[in-house]
Amino acid sequence: MLTQTPKGTKDILPSESYKWQFIEKKIHQVCRIFGYKEIRTPVFEHTELFQRGVGDTTDIVQKEMYTFLDKGDRSITLRPEGTAGVVRSYIEHGMSSLPQPIKLYYNISAYRYEKMQKGRYREFHQFGVEAFGAKGPDIDVEIISVLGFLFKSLGIKNVGLNINSIGCPVCRKAYNEKITEFLRPHLDKMCPTCNERFGKNPLRIIDCKEEKCKKITVDAPSMLDNICEECGTHFEGLKAGLDNIGIAYNIDKNIVRGLDYYSKTVFEFVSENVGAQGTICGGGRYDGLVESCGGPSTPGIGFGLGMERLLMEIESQGILIPDEDSVEIYISSIGEAAGKYASKLVNSLRENGISAGKDLMDRSVKAQMKYADKLGAKYTVVLGDDEINNNKVVLKNMKNGEKDEISLDSLCQEIINRR
Ligand SMILES: [Zn+2]
Ligand SMILES: [Zn+2]
Repeated sequence: MLTQTPKGTKDILPSESYKWQFIEKKIHQVCRIFGYKEIRTPVFEHTELFQRGVGDTTDIVQKEMYTFLDKGDRSITLRPEGTAGVVRSYIEHGMSSLPQPIKLYYNISAYRYEKMQKGRYREFHQFGVEAFGAKGPDIDVEIISVLGFLFKSLGIKNVGLNINSIGCPVCRKAYNEKITEFLRPHLDKMCPTCNERFGKNPLRIIDCKEEKCKKITVDAPSMLDNICEECGTHFEGLKAGLDNIGIAYNIDKNIVRGLDYYSKTVFEFVSENVGAQGTICGGGRYDGLVESCGGPSTPGIGFGLGMERLLMEIESQGILIPDEDSVEIYISSIGEAAGKYASKLVNSLRENGISAGKDLMDRSVKAQMKYADKLGAKYTVVLGDDEINNNKVVLKNMKNGEKDEISLDSLCQEIINRR
């Protein structure tokens, strides 16, 4: 136990962390281009926030939260997703009185006590974007476009966009009655979860993955065919906006999303690569959420993208992420005087922004070179008294073995020139 991570968690080792850094860098770049600012909220919040903000009827709240009493007897929960904390912050800091829309993004760890399966972790990581205050479909288009840009900048191909509308409280009320009547005669043939949802949130039954339930819901009336005029206009605006900037999409009437607070636009990006497993990320509009968490009535929309899922997609598409962390130059040295000189040289290389290394273990030159090779150093030099006295050194390219004699003084400039 002592030397193992808890079930559902894992270390991100240096052999992987450079990939995370690469993706995070792209995320910051894309968000900057779109004018989204980073927000960092606490890892834990009051439990009530998630009960309200994620929804009492969801699996997350009912089964999957890490909830505990702190030493002051307060019920605390590790965040199971990112949106609720951001909504709390929007309300707490009165962001509704700032110029709207408020456009935020986050890159967080989140926690769910989930059944173990491939690619699922109890501590997982999520990139998410939230925009508050804009009612019309233009912001829906922008949010979707953020993801399109991110996928493109990462070289991810063959990702399809599916969109749907799940209506507003007005049209959903009428629809719930309709689908309730449709489902009632079939309930005994449906799974226990669907039976539970029947009274509380029948729309979610459309989302059930069980074959026997799917067989029944395939003929069920769809939400999209029953949305009100306002929701219909919004959905038409979304489609027109996507067409306008050339984003392709399919309409998928079966997307309902797992969380209670969505309204109108919902969307998913799915991998169309053979052998890949479906949804990469999803999001949607949540116009009632801020109000139901105790804030002013405020429209909102966002998405969450699982970093683990994104990495799986990158790997399955064979995309190579450059390891920019490898040492650019390793200075081997022979003897004490050269060792001291090497320390100064490495220091000055580093001051010039060059990743440089030297012996720290009193190794032989041969062992130093072997170590430099293992580090993946791009260049090496061997420094002895002669090299220092003659101001000449042989720069070796470790990839192709090429050697060039250069003056020691110009080493720094030479490395920069060769980038
Ligand atoms: Zn509606
Ligand atoms: Zn079911």
